[in-house]
Amino acid sequence: MSAHGSTFPQFRQRATIAIEDVRLQGALDRALSHFRDARGGALAAVPAVEEMRDHLKQIRGQTIANLAHHLETFERNAEANGAHVHWARTAVEASQIIVDIARAHDVKLVAKSKSMMTDEIGLNQALTAAGIEPVETDLGEWIIQLSQEDPYHIIAPAVHKTKGQVIELFEHESGETLAEADIPALTAVARRMLRTKFLAADMGVSGGNLAVAETGSVVLVTNEGNGRMVTSLPRVHVAVMGLEKIAPTWDEAAVWLSLLARSATGQPLSIYTTAISGPARPGDVDGPEEVHVVLVDNGRSQLLNTPYEEVLQCLRCGACLNVCPVYREAGGHAYGSPYTGPIGAVVSPLLFGLEKYEALPHASSLCGACKDVCPVRIDLPRMLLELRKDQVQQGLVGPEALAERAVAAVMSSPSLWRLATGLARLGQRPFLQDNQLQLPVNLTGDRRPPTLPEKSFRQMWAEGNEDLK
Ligand code: SF4
Repeated sequence: MSAHGSTFPQFRQRATIAIEDVRLQGALDRALSHFRDARGGALAAVPAVEEMRDHLKQIRGQTIANLAHHLETFERNAEANGAHVHWARTAVEASQIIVDIARAHDVKLVAKSKSMMTDEIGLNQALTAAGIEPVETDLGEWIIQLSQEDPYHIIAPAVHKTKGQVIELFEHESGETLAEADIPALTAVARRMLRTKFLAADMGVSGGNLAVAETGSVVLVTNEGNGRMVTSLPRVHVAVMGLEKIAPTWDEAAVWLSLLARSATGQPLSIYTTAISGPARPGDVDGPEEVHVVLVDNGRSQLLNTPYEEVLQCLRCGACLNVCPVYREAGGHAYGSPYTGPIGAVVSPLLFGLEKYEALPHASSLCGACKDVCPVRIDLPRMLLELRKDQVQQGLVGPEALAERAVAAVMSSPSLWRLATGLARLGQRPFLQDNQLQLPVNLTGDRRPPTLPEKSFRQMWAEGNEDLK
């Protein structure tokens, strides 16, 4: 798994780096406000869009409540189409299944299209360790692979990269001088280089935005032609996806697709919506000889019938990231997970461990903007609070929580309160200058530390201070 964790010090350190990077903040502001405006315009153009969101919520809720039934239907119909369906309990198992398929076909090169799940299971690392070269072919993912970073945003993995940084990466990779290249020229370089990979790849690996149980189909939603190349040129295609991404029928898938691209990029539909129902049939002009679908659990089934079941309704549209005041400042890498922003703050601790991701339940102002924009109205703030509650119940409390507990104990005892404030008054005296606290070390940044008045309210009241009457 490519997740690295997000403890309090890790989150603070990475967020500080992002906040102090003026260029990055500008780039994020521009990109995220573009996504927000595009979503707003696209949804405003849909009649009865709120009812459509309610309908999608109902569909997702009912599907997750009957997940096992829909998955069995999918498996039956996919196998009837000639696809092979695999079940992976863990990330390691999922990667191993894909490595085994590659080995069975003597695969040396794998062309990949964008997939959050392959990031989650650490597939590139597993393939590389097995001597198989994985190549990302989505432009943003390729940039991320070349720079050896993690994706920054669910739908825009390289949103934080400048043109200059991309030029450097492409020059290094292609050996060409690209200093004067504009964006179309850079895209042409990527297309030229990646085309050779598509043609040489023995196996294509894609994600799956959703699977449709009634026809055993995997649906891919992309804006670049690479998805179709990956799934049709190599002789073996493997689709890997979370087992919650299932729609019982095409009617339900249609509602899902209507809201997915609008919420993600503001498009009525993405440029390519591809349904894959098994390998090429006799007479087909292209298509793989074999299709494998790997359905990954990796902690998802443990969320069923818990206060977190609702998170399985997520479409991974990324809309909640674009409105989150924490993500917009702290940036994607602060989360230390393939899943960033508010949805990442909930699923990362749930799937990869609350202890490892202790900071994420607190990486929120609980303003509710994420729930407002979510096409499925997922109540992420409620689940962030549930996670905080779990942390307290499991004794996984950070330094702030320990300090809060100590303060609560002092404040709930009048004698302790008098003792603590009396000591604080004595303690501050050597550092008072013109009634301002001047500490030898800066503990409060730009903020002026508060001072305690010479006398407390109780003392003044007891002394019959005239000002209080
Ligand atoms: S939680 Fe909602 S808004 Fe966020 S990625 Fe999932 S579906 Fe989209």
